[in-house]
Amino acid sequence: MTQYTTQMDAARKGIVTPQIKTVAEKEHMPVEKMMQLVAEGKVAICANKHHICLNPEGVGSMLRTKINVNLGVSRDCKDYDIEMQKVMKAVDLGAEAIMDLSSHGNTQPFRQKLTHECPAMIGTVPVYDSVIHYQRDLSELTAHDFIDVIRLHAEDGVDFVTLHCGITRKTIEQIKKHKRKMNIVSRGGSLVFAWMSMTGEENPFYEYFDEILDICEEHDVTISLGDACRPGCLADATDVCQIEELVRLGELTKRAWEHNVQVMVEGPGHVPLDQVAANMKVQQTICMGAPFYVLGPLVTDIAPGYDHITAAIGGAVAAMNGAAFLCYVTPAEHLALPNVDDVKQGIIASKIAAHAADIAKGIPHARDIDDKMADARRVLDWDAQFACALDPETAKAIRDDRLPEDDHSDTCSMCGKFCAVRSMNKALAGEHIDIL
Ligand code: SF4
Repeated sequence: MTQYTTQMDAARKGIVTPQIKTVAEKEHMPVEKMMQLVAEGKVAICANKHHICLNPEGVGSMLRTKINVNLGVSRDCKDYDIEMQKVMKAVDLGAEAIMDLSSHGNTQPFRQKLTHECPAMIGTVPVYDSVIHYQRDLSELTAHDFIDVIRLHAEDGVDFVTLHCGITRKTIEQIKKHKRKMNIVSRGGSLVFAWMSMTGEENPFYEYFDEILDICEEHDVTISLGDACRPGCLADATDVCQIEELVRLGELTKRAWEHNVQVMVEGPGHVPLDQVAANMKVQQTICMGAPFYVLGPLVTDIAPGYDHITAAIGGAVAAMNGAAFLCYVTPAEHLALPNVDDVKQGIIASKIAAHAADIAKGIPHARDIDDKMADARRVLDWDAQFACALDPETAKAIRDDRLPEDDHSDTCSMCGKFCAVRSMNKALAGEHIDIL
């Protein structure tokens, strides 16, 4: 007989689960401390009981920053084999979570394949799946149809579900009154808004929150409280709609914790750089330190094709100021479904942001790899440099494509014989330096 329901329940009872033990080891943290953070809700270990092959990770602002990769088929790109290739690439490149956002066809086999084969945390947005699952118009779905899809995903082994619980009928009035430039840009948020508008009913994810908590407690599914009103442009950042929803997410966080259900809170969106730190502080206060999961934030609206960079700039500042989990953004953001190369670019950009923040936050051992890289650079050991690189393949390909022409193959074609590193090594060793 299991002595606990969720990781949070176990931690509160003083039970060290294998997942808590593994996460404590990965984070170089005493297991008692990790248990306390899980018990308080400051660390979420998203680990559905049915996801047997999971390599567990903790999400919390005092831990290494984690990254999520969004994948899944759509009506226009429906090849599940290509999506599986992206999953494997994402895991290879160090993504700790995969969100399956599939919105076409029979989604269950792919979801089950993920929870049976993928060691990363798996997340979904059940409201997307509701329309496809029932093959009925949105307005014909009942509140309990949505809840039943959450149950299905929980039984399939999904570790966390994004639920847009914080948008209510009051939000409909606010959106009309405050006249945002971009209204609602959250896909799930817009579906819930549309359903409420068409049926005249309250948000089912808000109204039946207690029922949802029972499901999540039974299977240990972490709720990622979706931010339906996340700003979709700089002009809408930190406005009444966003903050009012955040306050409700804080109340729901407390209710979930009372049921021993783990919570993450989702955040903006498009935010000017000078507002990013303040957004993180406000969330931490209102949501009592629950892990903050941010999309970007994108710090300018004018870089389609390069939004992985826009998001990495915002993501680094966000993580340095308390965000725990970064949702990757690819160069295809705002333009198309990402292909395999877009996925890679998005992951690398997010990893750079997360790693830069971890160094700034003083996460134990975060900088070790940078120090190793510096040592390899000082002795011009190229293989050792590639071994430290986030993307060794690209680093090696660039060097090999443009090797120095002369015999100074220990340098690179950037400075050739003028190589500062080589000159200094020779000067300090008392050797002659041949430039010409
Ligand atoms: S040639 Fe220039 S860029 Fe290349 S290793 Fe030497 S100092 Fe660095």
